[in-house]
Amino acid sequence: MLRNDQLDQWDRDNFFHPSTHLAQHARGESPSRIIQTASGCHIEDRDGNRLLDGFAGLYCVNAGYGRREITDAIAQQAGELAYYHSYVGHGTEASITLSKMILDRAPSNMSKVYFGLGGSDANETNVKLVWYYNNILGRPEKKKIISRWRGYHGSGLVTGSLTGLELFHKKFDLPLAQVLHTDAPYYYRRTDADQNEAQFVAQCVQSLEDLIAREGADTIAAFIGEPVLGTGGIVPPPEGYWDAIQAVLKKHDILMIADEVVTGFGRLGSMFGSDHYGIEADIITIAKGLTSAYAPLSGSIVSDKVWAVLEQGTDENGPIGHGWTYSAHPICAAAGVANLKLIDDLNLIANATDVGAYLNQSMHAALGDHPHVGDIRGEGMLCAVEFVKNKDDRVFFDAADKTGPQIAGALAARGVIGRAMPQGDILGFAPPFCLTKPEADQLVAQTKAAVADVLG
Ligand code: PLP
Repeated sequence: MLRNDQLDQWDRDNFFHPSTHLAQHARGESPSRIIQTASGCHIEDRDGNRLLDGFAGLYCVNAGYGRREITDAIAQQAGELAYYHSYVGHGTEASITLSKMILDRAPSNMSKVYFGLGGSDANETNVKLVWYYNNILGRPEKKKIISRWRGYHGSGLVTGSLTGLELFHKKFDLPLAQVLHTDAPYYYRRTDADQNEAQFVAQCVQSLEDLIAREGADTIAAFIGEPVLGTGGIVPPPEGYWDAIQAVLKKHDILMIADEVVTGFGRLGSMFGSDHYGIEADIITIAKGLTSAYAPLSGSIVSDKVWAVLEQGTDENGPIGHGWTYSAHPICAAAGVANLKLIDDLNLIANATDVGAYLNQSMHAALGDHPHVGDIRGEGMLCAVEFVKNKDDRVFFDAADKTGPQIAGALAARGVIGRAMPQGDILGFAPPFCLTKPEADQLVAQTKAAVADVLG
């Protein structure tokens, strides 16, 4: 076995890590962690540290680590048929079965699923489908996509543009011109402290109406949003937000893309965030929880309404000019089938609801009164703690202080992983659905201690 110091050197010399300070990492100034093994809600590194993974990787290992049911299905599929493509009507038992399982679980107006590899490429697909849709309907001007500030939809060219976080635009010449951003439904960070939630929602709606009026409804194709803002800060929407936004979209004939990469398959305690909040999506993006990240797989679920136009398009223009070599890869599809079955068999969504509520209550009880904890929020198996310099006046810490990353570091030193969300001092939790109450207790107790380590 290679020595850890040798691996560490190879890592710094050869590996271009995503979302990493490249220079500090290459120079050996920032810590690296080499993960060796994992089971249930815990990961173990090569130095023998065992950590409770309070973020399920990147909120994706929903079923928990080390599930033999999924790894056996992958091995069996690899042995039987490691690959065949899905172009011109080809399929495999795994890809066809998985598409049926997804549609059986999706809202009833959904029609078909197109498979990709990750959330970013699924959203690229969605934008192309929306453009194609409007061309087929004879509306070539209706192409712009509205996203929200603090939304996260990936880091490709269009999807990095849809993402409403500064880091993903700066120095990349993004966002592209076809993408517009509107207000984040982030009540805690409202500019007018005196506003109640209903007034804040009305303001979000007015901003959207104003944007549509400025640009012209006949230039706007779709609105994309996560049911709960994820990477932007784990922010559940204020009461009535989705109903009010959807009324505007319907009025202007704008399609709704629900990006359920995080929320799909149970993270909020419902199968889909769309069910949870009454979102009537035209397209739903799925990834992460589809395979619990045992293999890379994403999907674009298209509604009857969109599908009918896609059919019309191919009748008029021939086969759709869209597809990846690895679309519906059988190994990934087999992982998806086994994962969705396991989630049902172990009743993991019910556990996410139950233990998620317990986690949120316990976090409130432990940290609600802390002078630097401004907000604690969550939904299902999602929880976030937001830190502020001054609680009464909602004065935020200077980003340069790196308060959130420092707390996440102190927490990791205590054996628990939480994620310092990229914009703001927000510590996020999205544990595997199999989290137990004693594990939730450990997570909360160590978070309280880590906050004390850094903020007193
Ligand atoms: N959409 C949402 C809501 C996400 O949270 C993410 C990733 O975190 C993506 C899209 C992009 O997915 P991927 O990283 O698989 O490309």
